[in-house]
Amino acid sequence: MSQSDKKRRLIIVSNRLPLSLKKVDGAYESSISSGGLVTALSGVRNSTNVRWFGWPGTNIEDPDERKIAAAALADKDAVGIFLDEKLAHSHYNDFSNGIAWPTLHYQSGIPFNEDAWKSYQRVNSIFAETIAAEAQPGDLIWVHDYHLLLLPLYLRARLKEKGMTHCAIGFTLHTPFPAEDFWRALPVQRELLQGVLGCDLVGFHTDEYRRNFVECCSRGLDVRVSGGGDEGIQRVEYEGHTVGVGMFIVGIEPQKFTDGLRDAREVQRRVEELEERYAKKVLILGVDRLDSTKGLVQKLQGYDYFLQHHPEMKTRVVLIQVAIPSREDVKEYQDLEREICTLVGKINGEHSTPDGTPIIYIHHSIPFTDLTALYRISDICLITSRRDGMNLVAAEYVACQKDRYGVLVLSDLAGAASFMGTGSITFNPSSAQQLSDSIYKAATMSGEERKRGYESLEEFVTTNTSAKWGEKFIKILSEYA
Ligand code: UDP
Repeated sequence: MSQSDKKRRLIIVSNRLPLSLKKVDGAYESSISSGGLVTALSGVRNSTNVRWFGWPGTNIEDPDERKIAAAALADKDAVGIFLDEKLAHSHYNDFSNGIAWPTLHYQSGIPFNEDAWKSYQRVNSIFAETIAAEAQPGDLIWVHDYHLLLLPLYLRARLKEKGMTHCAIGFTLHTPFPAEDFWRALPVQRELLQGVLGCDLVGFHTDEYRRNFVECCSRGLDVRVSGGGDEGIQRVEYEGHTVGVGMFIVGIEPQKFTDGLRDAREVQRRVEELEERYAKKVLILGVDRLDSTKGLVQKLQGYDYFLQHHPEMKTRVVLIQVAIPSREDVKEYQDLEREICTLVGKINGEHSTPDGTPIIYIHHSIPFTDLTALYRISDICLITSRRDGMNLVAAEYVACQKDRYGVLVLSDLAGAASFMGTGSITFNPSSAQQLSDSIYKAATMSGEERKRGYESLEEFVTTNTSAKWGEKFIKILSEYA
């Protein structure tokens, strides 16, 4: 990144700030929380003058309290957008996660809810007002994800009212974007497309999502599509405004993991301990948020099929499944957790021996030390997403497997499969047999085959880092300012 870019102000906007606020002795303390977007943006935060706007994650109604909380956030270059509790709930749970998320992940039969839609519009409008009040000419504004699909249009209008036409607005979607015949079933699909087209540059994780979006715009709105351009950016012109639409490959900071493995005594100690404990086992690792899109039920059913059809492997394999709690106040997620618990109990009950159980199920977040050690010692990483914007776990596993050549078994419905399909074993997670065959293949592959596959994955992960992703997006976005 050039010196002038470094001095540039970058406003990052996401529904939720990457900080959690806690009240301690009358004052607020904030700490960085984990998540895919935080991991992906860590590289950008290190190299740019960043301010982050978003909902602070706790409900604070009292105006004086809000001031104190805002001051604590300001210390960390964050601006809290405070929302009424009911409105925040309706925007987040009812529309963003109840309607937008399932539609973007190809889940059908989702009932539409007009009140939720109104809340979604209202919250996007509050975000636009808050950001427009703070923005300065020349700022780059980078909006993230499906909670804020209308924000680019609203923000453009607010900035125009203030006479600020020199702020460039970028938008990145971290989920898939579905095919046109699926997308158009959503009653407000046109409004959402118009919302996104309010920005200057839109980024998708894969070329398929980018193509789907352009196709939806072409069919749903009166747009003109042209170009491909130097960076493969297409231009979509709508009502006199031209938007660049491109694919930007999001990655991780592999060094964070390799440094930990090389330098941190605590990580090395955990690697040694766990390596000794599982010395005679083929260790399969799963790390997923507990969400239906991650295909955890399918993973367990496929693993059960594997144990049934390869009884000789029963005492040799162990699946360690980390299921990171997610949206625990939502009934569908509670039901899913119960279903998973039942399946884990059933499989362990059926296949356990006095020598061990086939599944170790961890339903809580684990410390980075343990995560890195597990990535390091596992022979197979199993990703069964039914749909997934990208999946950063795939890249994190590869980053930790240098000279060990672990095998990535990867659903071909995860965005990561577009880039990491070569080098991993891909399969369709709805087929228990395909899943089982893939585990068997991974567990019995020759060292030479594993090495070949691993080397191509390693090349991808070390080349496409999150820092490069951010730099590329910001570089192109700044051309619009
Ligand atoms: N992760 C976490 N807590 C844990 C274990 C892992 O936050 O206990 C991280 C993991 O390292 C990864 C992220 O959660 O960076 C999951 O990102 P991914 O893209 O795979 O899925 P998402 O949750 O964003 O859908």
